[in-house]
Amino acid sequence: MDATLSDFAARARAGVPRVLAADIGGSFVKFAAAGEDGRPIAAIHVANPSHDWDAFCAVLADLAAAADPGGHLPLAISVAGTIDPVSGRSLAANIGGITGHSLRGELGPRLGRPVAAANDADCFALAEALEGVGRGHRNVFGVILGTGVGGGLVIDGRIVEGTGGVSGEWGHGPIVGERRVGDVVIPVLACGCGQTGCLDTVGGARGLERLDATLNGSSRDSRAILKAWLAGEEPAKRTFDLFVDMVSGPLALVVNVVGASLVPVGGGLANVPELVVALDTAVRARILRKASEPLLRPAVLGADAGLIGAALLALRTATAPR
Ligand SMILES: [Zn+2]
Repeated sequence: MDATLSDFAARARAGVPRVLAADIGGSFVKFAAAGEDGRPIAAIHVANPSHDWDAFCAVLADLAAAADPGGHLPLAISVAGTIDPVSGRSLAANIGGITGHSLRGELGPRLGRPVAAANDADCFALAEALEGVGRGHRNVFGVILGTGVGGGLVIDGRIVEGTGGVSGEWGHGPIVGERRVGDVVIPVLACGCGQTGCLDTVGGARGLERLDATLNGSSRDSRAILKAWLAGEEPAKRTFDLFVDMVSGPLALVVNVVGASLVPVGGGLANVPELVVALDTAVRARILRKASEPLLRPAVLGADAGLIGAALLALRTATAPR
């Protein structure tokens, strides 16, 4: 992935790219020139001057000019935050410099090329739906089980954009009630979003660790918990069973609502395929449809999914009637 700007420019121009794509987080910008299938022809990883809008625009301008000096290829950007589909404005807690700015309306004119942007979980879902494990499925709900819980919905090859930029956010909303396992009370926790009892507080890696700490008094991380579970350790099994129960219920409801026939699962926890199999079994037992084939499957595009999703969004932006 890492390359100097001149290497990147040479490889990008030699490959005849169709679009440009970027995946931006709090500390990094991944940038690629991509072909017809959204896959990077050439890619580069640079630091994100995340709290300075002008510096951020300058970085993107340099990268775009290096890959496409002619200046006509569209660029789409995957953002760890929300993008209002009407105003185009971003809200990104960890990338303060772009919050309140429109990548489409402000960055686009500065670069002299069309710019589109979407939430990173939405880009992940689009990539997996079109080029990953969801290929051939019309209704795909992409799930991220990372530090917390995220998701994105793709129907007929298009991201379903939510009002205000919010859709697919199955990790938030007050749905976790107080419960008891033996004589241990599992507390209902406050979430960073302002609600109490969000799935996000128990459904990702940090949630798994909280459940294990409450049930077993441990301070081990999610990897150690899952390793112990795979080895058949009883306390880890108790934590894991509770986790699967708490996550599979809300996910079954989502599947019933959106009619997904495939749910790609990404994020760090999806690196343990046995976890995805256990969740799949629990979700399929709880949905209305009788599904004989696996519904949840590990995502296959790895760390490039956001970038590939952005490239696919750029390809659609380039061909969409405006
Ligand atoms: Zn929340």
